[in-house]
Amino acid sequence: LVVDGRCVRPDPMIVNLMELLATQAWTCLDRLRGLAQLHKRAMSDPLTGLRHQGSFNERITVAVPGRTALLAVDIDQFKSINDTYGHQAGDEVLVTVAHALLRALRQGDDLYRLGGDEFVAVLDVARSEEAVRVAERLTAAARAIGRTVSVGVALQQSDESPDATLRRADAALYAVKRDGRDGVQLAV
Ligand code: GH3
Ligand code: MG
Repeated sequence: LVVDGRCVRPDPMIVNLMELLATQAWTCLDRLRGLAQLHKRAMSDPLTGLRHQGSFNERITVAVPGRTALLAVDIDQFKSINDTYGHQAGDEVLVTVAHALLRALRQGDDLYRLGGDEFVAVLDVARSEEAVRVAERLTAAARAIGRTVSVGVALQQSDESPDATLRRADAALYAVKRDGRDGVQLAV
């Protein structure tokens, strides 16, 4: 009725019905928009904007043994920033480090904040050396903004659950912490 250039005189009854239909459609669309926003908020961390645990769990269901690498990343001595400059300064560091890590990743790599100052990157790689190179880019990116991070790298093995891969990446990360931080280790 709106786009038809010819003079149409619709039946008032039809106009009433169409108005009713438009109102119903608007309500549905508005509810859908609200649901999409809630879903996005539920899947992402409000501080850094990164996706968190739920999205990570979804992502690793499609991990491919021998091709998917998990990079466990943890900011070094982060607690001392909170203790020295306050929680808000700590929050700002979390945001700047998250953005620096994101910029250092390649297209298609995914980054999640799993909690506190811990992040995990999920990469598709051809071999473990490629994952280590990306991990080294992450440590360099943190250094470039005056921070350091420790990174543990694990390539999913055949017959290994993603949880077990993450545990190996975490163990490698803690080995870096023990060795003095600001480095990368490939899990055995
Ligand atoms: P390490 O090098 O061994 O990792 O030392 P660390 O000081 O970074 O130790 P750890 O990773 O255990 O410290 C994490 C701290 O992060 C502890 C907690 O108080 C703080 N934290 C967790 N979540 C948040 C947050 O959302 N904002 C801020 N500002 N601090 C947080
Ligand atoms: Mg830390």
